Amino acid sequence: MLAAILGGAYSHFVRGEKEFRMELQKGDQDLVRAQNRALVVNLLRTDAPLSRADIARRTGLAPSVLSRLVRSLIDEGIACEIGKSTPPSGRPATLIELNPSYATSIGIKIERSRILGAQVDLMGTILRRAEAAIHRPVRADRVLEDLVGVVNTLVDGRVLGLGVSVSGFVEPATGTNLYSPILEWEDVAVGEALRSSFDLPVRVENDVNGLALAERWYGAGRPFQHFICITVGEGIGAGLVIGGELYRGAFGGAGELGHITIDPNGPVCRCRERGCLEVYASDRFLCEEAERLGFEGIDPLAAAAREGLAPAREAFRRMGANLGVGAKNLVNLLNPEAIILGGERMGEGDLFVAAFEEVVCQHSFPEEASRLRIVPAELGGDGFLIGAAASAALEFFRVPAQVTLS
Ligand SMILES: [Zn+2]
Repeated sequence: MLAAILGGAYSHFVRGEKEFRMELQKGDQDLVRAQNRALVVNLLRTDAPLSRADIARRTGLAPSVLSRLVRSLIDEGIACEIGKSTPPSGRPATLIELNPSYATSIGIKIERSRILGAQVDLMGTILRRAEAAIHRPVRADRVLEDLVGVVNTLVDGRVLGLGVSVSGFVEPATGTNLYSPILEWEDVAVGEALRSSFDLPVRVENDVNGLALAERWYGAGRPFQHFICITVGEGIGAGLVIGGELYRGAFGGAGELGHITIDPNGPVCRCRERGCLEVYASDRFLCEEAERLGFEGIDPLAAAAREGLAPAREAFRRMGANLGVGAKNLVNLLNPEAIILGGERMGEGDLFVAAFEEVVCQHSFPEEASRLRIVPAELGGDGFLIGAAASAALEFFRVPAQVTLS
């Protein structure tokens, strides 16, 4: 763990056994202060409540530096003391956590048929919700109007920003939804609509990226620096967290797991390519299997599988195995610590996750496979909303970088 200790004009960067000492200019001191502060705020977000001694041990910060830092966070209302620890031996220590109500952010999820909104505190707890329906055929101007209306009902007190989760391709800089197959729209200026209505930072994020961020901050991803969050349902997506950070790719299109090619001569996918993973492992596959077996949709197919009907069980098993083929490619490419599985089809996880795990672990390199963890997402259906809000709070939690090249 990188730890930075500010002492006079010197800073000691302790990395494992080695200690580096470097003379700092004034600007560097400010930077190190800001970095230390961000380290502590992030640690309180993921691991609180913690004593000052815990924080010192986990960050490597000198007690005097840490003491000043915690004092200023408490004075600003960002952190608070919440009573004493009760250790089996030794003296009880005062415990510190983030003050969840210091500020909130607004998370919005644009779904196929509704806009969901939530006001979310610093610890990822939803405080209030709002909702508006989306009518067919989808008219982008109406949706954006309703989006502003939903946000209006939620903005209250100190708000860090507005975050929107939407399916498809999002241009990170502008927040324009370039393409969303679920909403069947293109080039919709979601970010601009909110910026022109609210004097707040706005971030628009691909929905699976948002979920990966939420799981990283508040859910199953907390112990991991490198993981893939895979969602399965109507579509198949992946959010990539590398080195603790969300990886969006150069143009915002990273993680389109559903559209990696399984068979170049396979059936046409909704993206117009052939033989994408989605053809073999999304709801489309299960719907086709249900129809072939004489069931009216996925729910009756799942019920039959749970009652032990072999062809129905086999349909889910094949879907899980196919998903495993796609995930295995990502595992070999990225060598993650964990795969987090989420999305609406996880309600049927009991029917396909075992087949998924078998394929991922049997075919990857043995060393990788034996250490790879496969875990369910923890935040459930609210993960997308919490992720949207988290994306709006990214700047608040950002650890300042050392150098910016122009
Ligand atoms: Zn495709």
